[in-house]
Amino acid sequence: MKEAYNFEEIETRWQKVWEERQVFEVVEDPAKPKFYCLEMYPYPSGRIHMGHVRNYSIGDVIARFKKMRGFNVLHPIGWDALGLPAENAAIKHGIHPQKWTLDNINYMRSQLKRLGFSYAWSREVNSCLPEYYRWNQWIFLKMLEQGLAYRRLSWVNWCPQCRTVLANEQVVAGRCWRCDSEVSQKKMEQWSLRITAYAEELLSGHEKLANWPEHVLQMQKNWIGKSEGALVNFKVPAINKDIEVFTTRIDTIYGATFLVLSVEHPLTAELIAGHPEKEQLQTWIKKTIAETRARKEIKEEEKVGYDTGLKAINPFTGQPVPIFLANYVLMDYGTGAVMGVPAHDQRDYEFATKYNLPIVPVIKPASPEFEPESGRAFEEYGILINSGEFSGLSSVEAMEKMAALAQAKGFGRKSVTYRLRDWGISRQRYWGTPIPVIYCEKCGLQPVPYEQLPVEIPYKAEFTGEEGSPLEKIPEFVNTTCPRCGGPARRETDTMDTFVDSSWYFFRYCSPRETRLPFDPEKAAYWLPVDLYIGGVEHAILHLIYSRFFTKYLRDLGLTSIDEPFPHYLAQGMVTKDGSAMSKSRGNVVDPDEMIKTYGADALRIFILFASPPEKEFAWSEEGLEGCYRFILRIWNLAEENLDLFQEEATVGGQFDQASYQRLNKKLHQTIKKVTDDIEQRFHLNTAISALMELTNSLKKEKDALRASQKGRELLKEALSDLILLLGPFAPHLAEELWQKTGRTTLVAESSWPAYDPELAREELVTIVVQVNGKLRDKFEVEIDTDEEILKEKALSLPRIQELLGGRPPRKIICVKNKLVSLVV
Ligand SMILES: [Zn+2]
Ligand SMILES: [Zn+2]
Repeated sequence: MKEAYNFEEIETRWQKVWEERQVFEVVEDPAKPKFYCLEMYPYPSGRIHMGHVRNYSIGDVIARFKKMRGFNVLHPIGWDALGLPAENAAIKHGIHPQKWTLDNINYMRSQLKRLGFSYAWSREVNSCLPEYYRWNQWIFLKMLEQGLAYRRLSWVNWCPQCRTVLANEQVVAGRCWRCDSEVSQKKMEQWSLRITAYAEELLSGHEKLANWPEHVLQMQKNWIGKSEGALVNFKVPAINKDIEVFTTRIDTIYGATFLVLSVEHPLTAELIAGHPEKEQLQTWIKKTIAETRARKEIKEEEKVGYDTGLKAINPFTGQPVPIFLANYVLMDYGTGAVMGVPAHDQRDYEFATKYNLPIVPVIKPASPEFEPESGRAFEEYGILINSGEFSGLSSVEAMEKMAALAQAKGFGRKSVTYRLRDWGISRQRYWGTPIPVIYCEKCGLQPVPYEQLPVEIPYKAEFTGEEGSPLEKIPEFVNTTCPRCGGPARRETDTMDTFVDSSWYFFRYCSPRETRLPFDPEKAAYWLPVDLYIGGVEHAILHLIYSRFFTKYLRDLGLTSIDEPFPHYLAQGMVTKDGSAMSKSRGNVVDPDEMIKTYGADALRIFILFASPPEKEFAWSEEGLEGCYRFILRIWNLAEENLDLFQEEATVGGQFDQASYQRLNKKLHQTIKKVTDDIEQRFHLNTAISALMELTNSLKKEKDALRASQKGRELLKEALSDLILLLGPFAPHLAEELWQKTGRTTLVAESSWPAYDPELAREELVTIVVQVNGKLRDKFEVEIDTDEEILKEKALSLPRIQELLGGRPPRKIICVKNKLVSLVV
């Protein structure tokens, strides 16, 4: 009698076994190779969503696989538990943020356990507990001592809905990243972390990140925005001041016919002091500041400038040029002042045309055949003309020589600027890490002494939703004593951006209960860096820059020797349904709980991994999930029908079917190789699952023929056992259950990954011909059914083909599987 597949009972039973036997708890073991597998820790919003299920299923397969491959695997999880939604829940429903958060964590933890993830639960971290966030405060104090944390009055992004400041990284196209409200600007005192001190290293460190998606590196590069150029001072005789200009094209300076300053430039007030329309100008400046600060793209027709009436002296030509204020120059970039070279910059060209300013060409094309387009600026490098002693030089030579002259004469120098700004971390909210600083009227700003950490978030608070931080209204919190003079003092009421918490949590997992330091440096030295980091790409310029910055800082503190935390980052694709991302507002959310109830955790895990490769978008369909459930049933039935093989040594005297034997034996070894390579080399979990499906089908097909002979039965047993082991990372509950049914007392999770015989696993080879412009030029051999991408790569790497291409990329490449690669040049 076959037993029915009761996933609910099976899955919860094995989850208990893993937990009781502490199968996934680990300690440092220098004798074993380590593998640190990490998924981005979740915000406890209330429920696990499908994006989480996908992220954590990918990580779980890798972690379980690595363990079976003999690695000492650290696979932890925790909670990014501070932040605004908890406070909003308090305002809306009157639940204390702490209770809301902890209740959510409890529920979501049970959901993760129900999915059978192989987490080392004893290492769970929770950033809303003082035992965690005291170390945010400790790191902040270290930065304060070194001048890397500082307080200043500055323009900040203000979200009226969230009623708090946002970092530049949290403003997306002028809107709040969290609530999508339009962001306004305020001038406020606030705390910043000097991430710019690491700008160059954040950029050069990319060289170590070969295993990051190229587009993520590009986003970071753009965000850091390095430009190499020169600083040049233009004297303004009327006010006896200099205006410092940053330019990437000093070679065009003889063509600079005006200067343009940001309305926020510190000299603005002085420059317009004597202007006849001063008041009108001031009104316009105020309006412009508000507009440009909103970081909206300014359309062409909206570019407006005002002539200040004053002149600056171009230090190269000695000629006076007019000084303009304009709405398209940002104070954030360079020095907030640029030189206008209309002949060689399109934006300046349009400005000069609009305000009737002279256009003086100073660069001609290097190639005489090249005719620059008329009515436009010529922006390329070329040969200098009308440039005094520099005429005749190339742009590149001139840049060197002109910067050197400026330096020698004391009016300029070579310089590098970055677009990256310091990280504003002050938040005027309650549910965040209190910034550990005290203000004394007598002694000024005082850091909270280390031994007084943590400064705890006071439990009793009022959540009214009115302006100002709830912390400001708690006298017991605000009023304190000065650590220096003992007199009355006031506590800082700003809390930290919660991205501070997530900037170093992966260190904490190495020693989650450490009490002397943020983490035990020795343990961290064993586990770090993270060998594989998996998470959504939406964090490309937030979390993934901040955590690189923190790692470099912790290295400089001597707590770690690594300088890149995540050498390998796998950016997992989105989960969509009906063509768009799953979201509450679209009403297309599928609840994992319901799916687990109907199909079981194993079916859900397999489906979410099977439908597309990890880095691609994943389109939800319940039919697809049903298909995976049926696949599990097929394996279940196959095992049930053949369990007798494992029970008794029956003597059978049937015919040995050699052909069937060879077919299954080959398929088995090929499958082991394919699944191993797919997981280990490319994370193509989807094709690994297809290979398991194929093996299941082969087993079904060959089993009757093989059951007749002793030798055939041995192979069937072996193939079935290996199939169960290969299923271990994907459908761990099913695998454990079947393993036990075959009479084993060990666990699949603790077993070794099956090995294959390379000779048997070898695929058939096919010859691929390579054509260039229709002519046969070369050929090579590959395994049958090799991917087209790989065929393309191989063809392009052939010496003969490289020679024919002569360094030019082909215009078109056509690949036909098992046949040919055709290049058109
Ligand atoms: Zn907001
Ligand atoms: Zn004092």
